[in-house]
Amino acid sequence: MGSVGDAGRHLMRLPERVVVGEELLGRMGEEIRELGDIRRALVVTGPNVWRIFGGSVERSLEGSGIKPTVTFANAATKEEALRIAGARGGFDLIIGLGGGRPIDVAKYAAHVSGAWFISAPTSAAHDGIASPMASLKGSDAPYSEMTSPPRAVIADISAIASSPPNLSRSGFGDLLAKITATRDWKLANLERGEYYGEYAAHLALLSARVVINNRKRIGRMSEDGVRVLVEALISAGVAAGIAGSSRPCSGSEHLISHALDLISPGKGLHGEKVGIATIVAAKLHGLNWMRIRKALEDVGAPTTFHELGISRDQACRAIVMAPSVRPDRYTIIHKLRPDYDQACSLVDELEVA
Ligand SMILES: [Zn+2]
Repeated sequence: MGSVGDAGRHLMRLPERVVVGEELLGRMGEEIRELGDIRRALVVTGPNVWRIFGGSVERSLEGSGIKPTVTFANAATKEEALRIAGARGGFDLIIGLGGGRPIDVAKYAAHVSGAWFISAPTSAAHDGIASPMASLKGSDAPYSEMTSPPRAVIADISAIASSPPNLSRSGFGDLLAKITATRDWKLANLERGEYYGEYAAHLALLSARVVINNRKRIGRMSEDGVRVLVEALISAGVAAGIAGSSRPCSGSEHLISHALDLISPGKGLHGEKVGIATIVAAKLHGLNWMRIRKALEDVGAPTTFHELGISRDQACRAIVMAPSVRPDRYTIIHKLRPDYDQACSLVDELEVA
């Protein structure tokens, strides 16, 4: 659980360098050279991202005396990360350039191979940009795993602002989740005696508040809106690093989303599912769930599972399944354990089907 161990010892693992700004991908080499005498870098990316940004990244790295080797992350699986880690021959660091898949794969590959990990997001779809958590298939668990935080985060606002808007709206949903995740964490503290880090919880919650306040600008994908979103995603990831676990970022709403990953694989983006599931988790916590739905509406994110191609029956089953996704991770949904009929009445009342 990465919590308080012997004699209250608590380890916080954080990125050393976080750079947020415009046109940063073309300065990648200079930013990385700030970390030390880096000579060889492995770039994990995707074919589309590389087609758009590869030229300037390559020029910048070579201009700073860094020799890049490029590989594509073909799947968001552990197997793929291990393949990439195994191919590591004398690289000083591994750069994850792209959206979810290259970031998660590069993060895990760097973790197992002992290389530094550089996170260079080209979209803002989830809080994995700066967190120590990697979300990959092929492990025993359908949820994110603790690895190591990035050594550096290089977030190019210009690149992210030109990514498809549904990705940023998904990132917004992943941040709304902090409202219920921090409640779940506190509940586990009160009812199960689990370690609770008040500072980390407040930091995660702050990221949700700030994006709610800026939802209109984020929905429009203005550069200042995107910057707020990116900074909030980074600080949510840092909150997980401070907590030493994903607790401040991930609660019952994530368990519903992970259950949907199993029941209806490939439907909707992570943050889209999580955002809608936050409406459900907010209701279970007795919070103002209408405010959550309104925030999603205002940003232009989906507010029903139907919009993601998920049926009412699948949504109900996911709510029932959620506690068993992580039996050890106590949340409101473990406490209330809705049965199928209760889950369906909830779904109908909240109009999320
Ligand atoms: Zn998430």
